[in-house]
Amino acid sequence: MKKVDCPLCIEDGGICLVRTKQYRIVAPCEPEFLGLIRVIWNEHVVEMTDLEILPRNDFMRAVYFVEESVRQMMNPDKINLASLGNAVPHLHWHIIPRWLDDSYFPVPIWGQRQREISAEKVSQRQSDEQLLMRYIQEQKLEG
Ligand SMILES: [Zn+2]
Repeated sequence: MKKVDCPLCIEDGGICLVRTKQYRIVAPCEPEFLGLIRVIWNEHVVEMTDLEILPRNDFMRAVYFVEESVRQMMNPDKINLASLGNAVPHLHWHIIPRWLDDSYFPVPIWGQRQREISAEKVSQRQSDEQLLMRYIQEQKLEG
C-alpha cells in the first residue's frame, strides 16, 4: 500500500539507520535540529489505531528505544515526542532532544525561533549526533 503523492512512501526521509519489515528509524540530519530522529511506519497508514495491537506495540517499542538512545547520547534537558501527520499523513514519530538553550526552547521546534546557539554547542551536538546514529545502527531490532 503506497501513495504516489506521499513523500514517506517515495523516500526514506533521511539517512536510514535501521530498517525492519514494519518500520524504519531515520536521521533527517537537519542542522537546526541536531539529534532529531524519526521512526516511520513503512506502509502508508494514517493513525496509530489503524494498526493492530502487536505491530503498534512494536512501533512504540522502537520509539521508546530511540528516546532512550537520544537521552543517553545527546544528554538533552527534555525529550519531545511528537506524532502530528498534518502535512504528511503517514504514521511517523519525531523524537526530539531539547535543551534549555536550543534555538526554539521552550516552544515546539515548529514554533518561533527564540535565540541563536553558539557554534561551539552546535559542533558538540553534531559530534554527539554522529555517535547517536552509530549507536542506533548497531542495535538489532525486531519487528
Ligand atoms: Zn505514505
